[in-house]
Amino acid sequence: MTDLYEVSRHYYQTELAAGVERFFESRRTSCPWCGSTNLSVRLHTTDLYQRKPGRFTLERCGACRHIFQNPRLSPAGLDFYYRDFYDGLGQQLWEWFFAGQEPTYRGRAEMLRPFTMPKAWLDVGTGYGHFCQIARKIWPDTVFDGLDQSVSVEEAQRRGWIDHGYRGKFVALSDALVGQYDVVSMHHYLEHTREPFDELDTAAKVLMPRGYLLIEVPDPDYQFSRALGRMWIHWNQPQHQHMFPLENVVRALTDRGLSLVAVERGAAHHKGGDLSASLALLLNVCAPMTRQPWLDAVPTRWRRFRHTTTWAGGMPLLVCAYFLDTLLYRVVRRTYSGNVYRVLARKES
Ligand SMILES: [Zn+2]
Repeated sequence: MTDLYEVSRHYYQTELAAGVERFFESRRTSCPWCGSTNLSVRLHTTDLYQRKPGRFTLERCGACRHIFQNPRLSPAGLDFYYRDFYDGLGQQLWEWFFAGQEPTYRGRAEMLRPFTMPKAWLDVGTGYGHFCQIARKIWPDTVFDGLDQSVSVEEAQRRGWIDHGYRGKFVALSDALVGQYDVVSMHHYLEHTREPFDELDTAAKVLMPRGYLLIEVPDPDYQFSRALGRMWIHWNQPQHQHMFPLENVVRALTDRGLSLVAVERGAAHHKGGDLSASLALLLNVCAPMTRQPWLDAVPTRWRRFRHTTTWAGGMPLLVCAYFLDTLLYRVVRRTYSGNVYRVLARKES
């Protein structure tokens, strides 16, 4: 761990010496979804997770309600901010989180049941393959392949959680995948991409005729997205490049020859995604981890004290917030509203 930390520290200190401003592209003046110039600021925020330096803005289109990061990060900027999040120094934490999401993974896999028996399923943005590991228990005769830019997809294949792993960008790899799958899934993938229309074009290409595309993304129309402000966990800056109102995704799918089959809103709601997660983010902002390679080399005694006392004091509140989230989960799942939504669409020809 020390070696990995020291290697990371050298990288971050070198990058930070040149400043983070170079990681941003020029601010655009029109909506990337519909082209309207009727834009307004939805949110200013910082990196609430890792506490890497930088300020980020989400803007909202007054014509189509699409929300997007503006100015957006460059590919180099995305590399900088993603580093040590899902892999490297952050791998252990996020694998623990993903391993606790089985009810969500089951819900996604079961959404297909009334409509088809999947034969070949490609999970785009598969990470370490936690979803496929659970989904193949529900669909034991289905071939599950995974695609991801990260080294995680190679680990997923090594573990046997996917049958075959593709490492790289979906659009770039698509020529070899045309017409190969009767199900393509994108769970919390589309909002991370720079060009979501290109990703949807590619999904339509990769699907067989009568194949199904399953999408799960955060719902920016959920009431708590406004009530919790920048602490709402699903804003997830600086990773989320786009946030889509449901009707925009449905229209984009229709434009590509896919017809809407089913929508889940309350039924897709993530437990713990609101109060306890927001409180954890708040504690993290007040008292971040004491030793991070993008911070100073030696944490001060004051920073250590603040971290220990803040998290110790916050723990009973976190427990309360978790129980409130559990109650909220039971209520919200019965409504047509939730912190995420799922869309299932079929390619018609
Ligand atoms: Zn727009």
